[in-house]
Amino acid sequence: MEESGKKRIAILGSTGSIGTQALEVIGAHPDRFQVEILTAGSNAQLLMEQALKFKPNAVVIQDESKYKWLKDQLFDQGIKVFCGDQALAEIVEMDTIDLVLTALVGFSGLKPTMKAIESGKQIALANKETLVVAGELVTKAASEKGVNIYPVDSEHSAIFQCLAGEFHNPIEKIYLTASGGPFRGKTYDELHTVTRAQALKHPNWDMGAKITIDSASMMNKGLEVIEAKWLFNLRPDQIDVVVHPQSIIHSIVQFEDGSMKAQMGLPDMKLPIQYALGYPERLKSDFPRFDFMKYPSLTFEKPDFEAFKNLGLAFDAMFRGGNAPCILNAANEIAVDAFLKEKITFTGMSDMIAMCLEEIAYISKPNLADYSDTDKATREFARAISQKQGIAR
Ligand code: NDP
Ligand code: MG
Repeated sequence: MEESGKKRIAILGSTGSIGTQALEVIGAHPDRFQVEILTAGSNAQLLMEQALKFKPNAVVIQDESKYKWLKDQLFDQGIKVFCGDQALAEIVEMDTIDLVLTALVGFSGLKPTMKAIESGKQIALANKETLVVAGELVTKAASEKGVNIYPVDSEHSAIFQCLAGEFHNPIEKIYLTASGGPFRGKTYDELHTVTRAQALKHPNWDMGAKITIDSASMMNKGLEVIEAKWLFNLRPDQIDVVVHPQSIIHSIVQFEDGSMKAQMGLPDMKLPIQYALGYPERLKSDFPRFDFMKYPSLTFEKPDFEAFKNLGLAFDAMFRGGNAPCILNAANEIAVDAFLKEKITFTGMSDMIAMCLEEIAYISKPNLADYSDTDKATREFARAISQKQGIAR
């Protein structure tokens, strides 16, 4: 912590949905937080605007073709500019950082997150794919380094909030709530013909494209089940999913005496982001407050594993362990990308993931290099099968 008592924060992925909301939170609490590092993939314009406003020590742009332009814009501001994957992974080692918010999307978050943990930085974790791919390695490294991982994902933040003051009481079970997304109630056959535009319209949350498709296909909940296993050190059979279309109850913990604690509030990612950044304090906010009369009933349903095959695939991968979740994640990243490019159908995404899980070699105790190899092999195989009948549009 700096002498001023401000927490110095690095945001990986500051130009995304989580990144921009995190900057809103920080902007509302200038006495508590200071932006130390900002990074983006290719959106140099927004990164520049953020840098001018928040005056970080340094920025990183992954896309090297944007480097010169960005450097020209920021050089007289005393803000250092770096580019490329290597710089992104290494910037988190700077000793002026107290906490790293990982808001990158997909497998790209793994290396910088590991580096941040290895250099002892506290983590606010939005990038769930990191824990899905390599949860065992990541959580082991964190406990060895005494690093806390504060969840940003709303469901996991809910569980974390329910566990405050309960750390010695064993969890019997957790229930992750799911909105069900835009296709709740549709049959498997109906899902075959849904379009990209329909899938991108989430009823309750406004998020990046990848997670929005994951929410429509229920893969998001599948990834969150695996994320929860590692964050809260649970057995697979202790995790359940319940569909709750209003997204007011963000998740539930059941203890061994049968008591259940739930965390609720309007769906707004700024709340879990702020909790992760400000922990253990609850900072005052002007976020809209919940009005019971606007929600006369909160309802619950069973998830439909028949229609949403991804959810079952994710549970299976979690039970298999080893590199299976890594295969699931890589296949899903390629599938989502192909669906967004309108190359494959919505249900074709699940077919692609299932084929990858069958085809790619299983490793029971993978190391970091095995995860990279599995990720690469799965992506190649998934790209090759995207032309297959039944998957292709
Ligand atoms: P976005 O797509 O909106 O943002 C992703 C960010 O990462 C952007 O800053 C983007 O830069 C950058 N980026 C993307 N690819 C790369 C790359 N290869 N190398 C370096 N930087 C890259 O995603 P979200 O904010 O929606 O999600 C971020 C993470 O948080 C995901 O893991 C998601 O699952 C999780 N999450 C998100 C929620 C939400 O409400 N959005 C809720 C819960 C979890 P650029 O803008 O330049 O492309
Ligand atoms: Mg979530």
